[in-house]
Amino acid sequence: MSTVAPVQNTNGSGELFKIVSGEEQIRRRLDEERKRLEQEAGIERREVHHFHKPIELPFTKLQRDDTTLLFGGLTWKHERMVHAALESLGYRCESVPVPNKKAFQLGKEYGNNGQCNPTYFTVGNLVQFVQSLESKGLTKDEICDRYVFFTAGACGPCRFGMYEAEYRLALRNAGFDKFRVLLFQQSGGLNQAEAEAGLEMNMDFFLAILNALNTGDIMNDIAYQIRPYEVNAGQTDRVLEESMELLHEVMRRKRPWTLTTKSRKYLEKVGFAGTAEYLGKFLNQLFGGDLVAALNEVRARFAAIPVDRTRVKPIVKITGEFWAQTTEGDGNFNMFRFLEKEGAQVVVEPIGTWICYLIHQVVQRLHDQKGLAEGAVPPPSWRLDKHLKINLALYKKILQLKIGEAIFKREYNRIIKALGGIGHHLVDQYELQRLGHPYYNSRAAGGEGHLEVAKNIYYSHKGLAHMVLALKPFGCMPSTQSDGAQSAVMSHYKDMIFLPIETSGEGDVNAHSRVQMALGEAKAKTKLEFKAALDSTGRTVEEIRAYVQEHPELASPMFKIPRAKGVVGGAAQFVLHVAERMKAEGWQPRRTSAAA
Ligand code: SF4
Repeated sequence: MSTVAPVQNTNGSGELFKIVSGEEQIRRRLDEERKRLEQEAGIERREVHHFHKPIELPFTKLQRDDTTLLFGGLTWKHERMVHAALESLGYRCESVPVPNKKAFQLGKEYGNNGQCNPTYFTVGNLVQFVQSLESKGLTKDEICDRYVFFTAGACGPCRFGMYEAEYRLALRNAGFDKFRVLLFQQSGGLNQAEAEAGLEMNMDFFLAILNALNTGDIMNDIAYQIRPYEVNAGQTDRVLEESMELLHEVMRRKRPWTLTTKSRKYLEKVGFAGTAEYLGKFLNQLFGGDLVAALNEVRARFAAIPVDRTRVKPIVKITGEFWAQTTEGDGNFNMFRFLEKEGAQVVVEPIGTWICYLIHQVVQRLHDQKGLAEGAVPPPSWRLDKHLKINLALYKKILQLKIGEAIFKREYNRIIKALGGIGHHLVDQYELQRLGHPYYNSRAAGGEGHLEVAKNIYYSHKGLAHMVLALKPFGCMPSTQSDGAQSAVMSHYKDMIFLPIETSGEGDVNAHSRVQMALGEAKAKTKLEFKAALDSTGRTVEEIRAYVQEHPELASPMFKIPRAKGVVGGAAQFVLHVAERMKAEGWQPRRTSAAA
C-alpha cells in the first residue's frame, strides 16, 4: 500500500510530492503520538548512540612491506608455525602474547558487558598489545598505520559473531579508531573486499597455513605425551623450544612452488600456465619433502629424551569450547600445567578436529538442503533428467569437500608419521556425530556444537581417557547447552569421570580445587588398573624396570606401546607389553652376587 503525502521542499519554492509508504505513515504517526504522550508525562527523551561498524581503512599491497600482521589466540607452537608460514609468503608478522588477566580486565573495561569470556580475553589482549606499543614510544597514528590485526570471524549463531564488532569497539574506546581488523570468516572464506590485496588469500596462503597448523597440532600433542614421563625434568620443554625454532627456520625459508620462467613461457603459449601452476603447487604439497627432513630431525631429538613409562598417571582428555580448550594461560586457569603438576597426562585437542568438523557440517547441510535452493521449483517426479541434474550437482559439491577432507587428513597423518607416529590421529566425524547426536542435535550450530558431548563419550567409552575435563568459558551459549545434555550422557555412561569447568578471569583456586577432587577419583581408578595389570603378569615393577634398562628402546618416547583391549593407562599398557616380551624371551632378572 502506498499513499501520497505533501512535503515542503528545502528552498520553499513550492510543494514537492513524495511517495510515502503506509508503514512510513504509521511510523511517523507513532512517533508523533509517542512524543505527545512523553511531553504530557514530562519524560525527557535521550538520544541513543548505537555502535556502528566503522568504515574499514584498506590494507593494500603497497603497504605490505611496512605493515605488520598481528595474530594470536592459539598455542605458542601453532603461532610460531603460522609466523613462519606468513614470513615465507613475504609478510611482516608478529603474534600477540598469550592473553593474561590484565588483558581480561582491559576487555571488560573497553568492550561491552555481557560477552563470553574469550571475547574479554582476546579483545583486551589486542588493546593491551597496542597500548604496549604506545608505551614504547609509537604514536597512535603510527600504530594504526603500521599494524593490522588478522583474526577469524563468523556471522554467529553464538557470540563469535560479535567478535569483530567487539574488537572495533574496544579499539575505538581505547583511542585506536583507525586500527584495522582483517577478518577471516569462519564460514565463507575471507572477505576479499576487506583484505584488498594486502593479504592475498590464494592457494599458497592456504597451503602454508594448513602446514603450519598441522605441524603445531602434532608438536603440541607430542610434547604433552612425553613431558609427564621425562626422566630429566624440563628436558621436553627444552627440546620442544629448540625444535620449534628449527621448524620455524625451515618453514620460513620455504618458498611457494612456481613454474620456472622457461616452462611458464612455453605453457602460456598453449594457454595452460595457470592450470599447470595450480597443479604443480598441489602436487608439491602432496609429494614434496621440504619439511620432512626437519621433522625427522625433530623426531630424533624427541626420541633421545629418556622416559619412565612405569609412572602411573591418569589420562585427562581436554574438551570444551575452542578457545578455552586451546589457550595455555590465564584464559583457562593455566589448566594444562596444573594437571601435569598434579600428576596427570593431558591429551590436548588439535585444531585439525575443528577443521574437519567445519567440513563435515557443510556436507551435512548440503544433504539437508538438497533441492531447497531459494526460489527453486522442484521438478515433477517424472522429470528424471532434472532430478539427475540436481543430484549430480549436489554430489559434485560433496565429492569436492570429501576430497578436501581426505587430503587434509593425509597431510596431517604424514606429519604424524614423520614425527615418529606417536601423535593422535584425527577422530572420524561420522563417529562423533553418531555418538553425540542422540544427546545434542548435530545440526545445532554454534561453538563446538555436538562435539563436546560426542568427545566425552568417545574418549571415556572407548577407553582412551580416565577423565574428561571440559573447559567452557563463562557466558558461552553452546557450552551451556551441552552441559545440560551431559547430565543425560552421564546417566547412561555411569563409569565416566566428567568435569565441566567454567573458565573466567577469576576463580582459579575454586576451579583447581574442583579439578583436584575429580582427579583424585581418576587417580584411584588408574592405580587399580595398574595393579590389576601388574598382578596379571606375575612380575614386579622392579623387574619391569630392570628389563627396560637392558632394552633402551623401551625408554624412548618414540616407542609405540601396543594397546591392550580395555586398558586405559599408559603404565598399565606398558607393563602388559613388557611382560609379554619377557615371557617370549624367557627373561629372568639377574641375581645379584649378594642374593647368589
Ligand atoms: S563458542 Fe561460546 S565462548 Fe566461544 S565465541 Fe561462542 S559463545 Fe563465545
